[in-house]
Amino acid sequence: MDLEGILKRHFGYSEFRPGQRQLIEGILAGRDVLGVMPTGGGKSLCYQIPALLEEGMTLVISPLISLMKDQVTALRKAGIAAAYLNSTLSPEAMQQVYEQAAEGAYRLLYVAPERLGAGDFLALTRSLPIALVAVDEAHCISQWGQDFRPSYLQIARFVGRLPHRPVIAAFTATATTQVRSDIVRLLQLRDPLCEITGFDRPNLFFDVQSPHSKRKALLRLVEERRGKSGIIYCATRVLVEQVCQMLCANGIPATRYHAGLADDERQRNQDDFQFDRRPVMVATNAFGMGIDKSNVSYVIHYNMPKSLEAYYQEAGRAGRDGEPADCILLYSAGDITTAKYLIAQSGNDRMEEAERERVRRQEYDRLQVMIGYCKTTGCLRGCLLDYFGQAHAAHCGSCGNCLGRYERQDITVPAQMILSCAQRIRHKLGYYVGRSTLVQVLRGSRQQRILAGGLDQLSTYGLLRRLSAERVYTLIDYLESAGYLMTDPQHFTLRPTQAASAVLFEGEPVWLTVRSDRAAEEALRGRRWTPAAAPQEQDLFAALKATRFRLAQQENVPAYLIFSNATLTDMANRMPRNRFELLDVAGVGEVKAERYGEAFLETIADYLAEQGEAEEDTRAITGFPPDE
Ligand code: ADP
Ligand code: MG
Ligand code: ZN
Repeated sequence: MDLEGILKRHFGYSEFRPGQRQLIEGILAGRDVLGVMPTGGGKSLCYQIPALLEEGMTLVISPLISLMKDQVTALRKAGIAAAYLNSTLSPEAMQQVYEQAAEGAYRLLYVAPERLGAGDFLALTRSLPIALVAVDEAHCISQWGQDFRPSYLQIARFVGRLPHRPVIAAFTATATTQVRSDIVRLLQLRDPLCEITGFDRPNLFFDVQSPHSKRKALLRLVEERRGKSGIIYCATRVLVEQVCQMLCANGIPATRYHAGLADDERQRNQDDFQFDRRPVMVATNAFGMGIDKSNVSYVIHYNMPKSLEAYYQEAGRAGRDGEPADCILLYSAGDITTAKYLIAQSGNDRMEEAERERVRRQEYDRLQVMIGYCKTTGCLRGCLLDYFGQAHAAHCGSCGNCLGRYERQDITVPAQMILSCAQRIRHKLGYYVGRSTLVQVLRGSRQQRILAGGLDQLSTYGLLRRLSAERVYTLIDYLESAGYLMTDPQHFTLRPTQAASAVLFEGEPVWLTVRSDRAAEEALRGRRWTPAAAPQEQDLFAALKATRFRLAQQENVPAYLIFSNATLTDMANRMPRNRFELLDVAGVGEVKAERYGEAFLETIADYLAEQGEAEEDTRAITGFPPDE
């Protein structure tokens, strides 16, 4: 079978990505499959192509109702009959989908797992030939994953009630063996073909930064990327609110998303982001699963996530269109405290206490790996790939650590002052205090609560007056991460550890290794500021984007659903002059060529005509043809 032909005709791509062909062929041969591919790896195509070729309908089980609409719109744009059933549809619309589905009008039907239990849905699916059940984000079935959805556990029973057992295809980006075996067991996959592709995403640049001020650092990073779309993940709702407000106050078109917002506002904000009306999204980790916005060109983590797996999944939402994109994590030791707090709060109510404790312990282990990523001076990409068990070069040459330079600073004296100050406060008050009090005492604050406690009488009072508060916080964070200070998980107070006595009483030196960020930043800048194409081509790119914007407005869909940025870039480089040439552009399939081709070809023709005129103008003025 000419799978390449189908790939080109419907999706406009000329080559399969790793794993896609094997999974598609497996499904077509009637085998259950499990596809493990990184976010952005192209899992959807693996069930969409079989859905086109199989006799019966394909049922797609997907966890987020808010995103089904997008996927279905994208399929319809590619000329594929698809629909979705979820609670956002009006009763009439719902009825219509049921009727059409019963008539066999759809190749694909998307549903949330909750629907599988509904009586009328069961009746519908029992009366239809169903060739394939595709389970997207299949890790939701596992309690060990981070997005456990109890309703996923119904899937096997649902399949068991169908008159004929369809092929089951499961997809996830979660690579741990535990989650993988849960998927196979709980979905009752039969001798599945497992395809686990490489996890490297070469177009992503990884970096970890520990700025003195996260706010300032964030603002600078976002400002440097003005006009681009990005996601900023924060650990808590409160931070989402603060960061979003800060960005908006600085003229950045940002919006926000977290579980505390009303449904309609969440949906509205998500749409604003998808449609690039507000291209910067500030969100908790509630945002993003299944998000298919391909032109996200950076993901910044304002806080360290709970696990490297969560990090890779969230960061992986950048650069799905294959264009260079940045994944930057802003780290401070305070993040460890927040993460520990969140883990202590986690676990779902229906778990037994022993079970919950086991989950927590595992989460702590994962957190340690995540902290390791933040602290390593080795290759960041290598650290990620190690976690996923993939071999790699020692240095990728394109992450912040590979490009950074390091220097060691002797911080023994300020370290002694900080550690001893913590002890002296304890002697005075009878208890340890938190970060901010410690910083205030060291910097000689005249605040009432410092004076009232007599802390201004301590010999360490005001010793670090010369340093900025930010710098003192950084030193404290470092002392904690290096094991000289410990945060009490209940009261968030700081206590010197055993290791601190060697520094205090034996004069053991303390070194702080800092990366000088200049080299890495220059490399980043270089990449961003060197135009990818000659200036004229940039003009054409802008014109093509404008055409895309116009079409998107007309059809009321997000722009990237018409063509991705990668497609427009390729189009600007190739400058097709007719429909045949247009089909050579990556991402242009027959259906889209038919639907949008004319508008884009016209834009290119106009551009070329203008160029011609400009050339004539030059000739008229100088008497010579312009430089080649
Ligand atoms: P995943 O679900 O694995 O995170 P998607 O299925 O959303 O990834 O695909 C990510 C992007 O890659 C989409 O924009 C999709 O159109 C594109 N894509 C998928 N397969 C190919 C391919 N063979 N060639 C080029 N682009 C592809
Ligand atoms: Mg997906
Ligand atoms: Zn590297």
